[in-house]
Amino acid sequence: MVALKNHKAVFLDRDGVINSDRGYVSQWSEFEFLPGVVTAMAQLQALDYRLIIVTNQSGIGRGFYTEGEFAALSTQLIDFLADHDVSLTAIYHCPHHPTEALGGYRKDCDCRKPRPGMILRGLDDWQLVPEVCALVGDKLSDIEAGRGAGIGHLFRVATAAKQDGVTSVSGLPEVVQYLTAWNEAQSSESH
Ligand SMILES: [Mg+2]
Ligand SMILES: [Zn+2]
Repeated sequence: MVALKNHKAVFLDRDGVINSDRGYVSQWSEFEFLPGVVTAMAQLQALDYRLIIVTNQSGIGRGFYTEGEFAALSTQLIDFLADHDVSLTAIYHCPHHPTEALGGYRKDCDCRKPRPGMILRGLDDWQLVPEVCALVGDKLSDIEAGRGAGIGHLFRVATAAKQDGVTSVSGLPEVVQYLTAWNEAQSSESH
């Protein structure tokens, strides 16, 4: 079996997966972690997954907050997680919107989910193998982006909707349970 240790990542949507989705969260004071998320991230990292955030941020394009404010919030998140021994590999964001954004932000880009552009970029930047990667989102557009990028494990948080090939979970801690079991099965196959 190919050594996959350095080729696995969990792609995480941000709002609604890591923190409560209050709509256009742009300040650290509005950033409220969902239960068990930081511990779950540490556990995924211990399973040799890189942690990569892929987030639509059309609030930038709509003029609700700036690239600088988004960057500042991202830095606070990175620093907070680092204090809890969690290292984020990357944060990719799409500031665009095809109809509602202002100026140059109004475009039909390839990065806004449900398109897979941010995930494809992450796969390429970090030389990841999509089949062994996972994606966790709360919206159908997250799942579609993951599927479009060929991600092997698709998880949707807190939804009653059942979809083929998608596992419904209550949150990131439940994702850890699934991926722990899968990794154990993989390693016993290879012995
Ligand atoms: Mg979301
Ligand atoms: Zn975009």
